[in-house]
Amino acid sequence: MTTVRSPRPRLLSVVGLPMPLELRESARARRMTLRLDPARGLVQVVVPAGLAEAEAVRFVGRHTGWVQARLAKLPPALPFTEGAHISVLGRDHIIRHEPFIRGSGVREGGEIRVGGRVEHLPRRVRALLIAEARGLIGDRARALAATLGARVKAVTLRDTRSRWGSCTSTGRLSFSWRLMLAPEAVCNYVIAHEVAHLCEMNHSPRFWALVTKLCPDALRARDWLRRHGPALLRIGGPAAPGQTEP
Ligand SMILES: [Zn+2]
Repeated sequence: MTTVRSPRPRLLSVVGLPMPLELRESARARRMTLRLDPARGLVQVVVPAGLAEAEAVRFVGRHTGWVQARLAKLPPALPFTEGAHISVLGRDHIIRHEPFIRGSGVREGGEIRVGGRVEHLPRRVRALLIAEARGLIGDRARALAATLGARVKAVTLRDTRSRWGSCTSTGRLSFSWRLMLAPEAVCNYVIAHEVAHLCEMNHSPRFWALVTKLCPDALRARDWLRRHGPALLRIGGPAAPGQTEP
């Protein structure tokens, strides 16, 4: 099978909209679709490869109400900048840029301090939180699994859009690093959820009984994620294109 390489996404301005959309041609798309990317705060229009741009503009023009409503409802973006306040595991932290700090930086006493050049600050804060997530979430997942007599094969951290965690049948767990930006109880719930999948690869009553045993506050945490999850995607900005979490 040959693969058709689609051109890179480009911006598409449409009269009546406050910001351009991202136009992406897809070899697999059979029709035009609109989707919101909350992490990047933009609306994407996916079109079949080779479609005339004027067609896409007309399509978006018929749906400007939908686009405007989605953009208006986006939680505010909260970039990682000097002096910004972010919540880490439910505790308020202020971001400090200290150019001469060596190494990867530090989170202590309600501050996140990173060094290096100022333009690298967002990336460094993100890397610091991911490194911490790997240790913290990994340790907790292994400890919880041990109480069930199960074993975690590996833990990976990602920047997922629609799932906070996942578990494979081979015992590989994956989590969104953004759980570090949620209250600790919420982070613990997602860990308990994925660890419970090591024993029950389904969402049966038996599975939920196991989750509740590992995390009695599961219901409240799920509710929190439903209401505040989209806002977590707006913190710190998305990974640069092509960048995956280590
Ligand atoms: Zn699940």
